[in-house]
Amino acid sequence: MFELSIQDHFSAAHNLRNYKGKCENLHGHNYRVQVFIRGEKLDKNGLLADFVELKKALKKVLDKLDHQYLNEVPPFTKLNPTAENIAKYIFEQLRYTLHVTRYTVSKVTVWESDTSSASYTE
Ligand SMILES: [Zn+2]
Repeated sequence: MFELSIQDHFSAAHNLRNYKGKCENLHGHNYRVQVFIRGEKLDKNGLLADFVELKKALKKVLDKLDHQYLNEVPPFTKLNPTAENIAKYIFEQLRYTLHVTRYTVSKVTVWESDTSSASYTE
């Protein structure tokens, strides 16, 4: 099995609902996002996927979140904008965009800081 990963980042504000502590107040993060894809077969050039295509797809998803107040962006108008839910959202958006048979999005990790991350995987 081959595995590739790409990274990008976005900046956004949020506050957590039903949470007692610092994160219930409005604040921001410079989120780092890492996407993993996996597949068995390479194309005729020996590539699992084109990094340029992957980065373009990720950028399109992150553009919807960048410099936004996440609590006002669907589905986070209802869903708490935690790193966990953001990771799942990006995972699902990418699965929808990258409907390629040779590989699949296998994991998305969202870093809220250098030391804290959450992943969604299947
Ligand atoms: Zn936060």
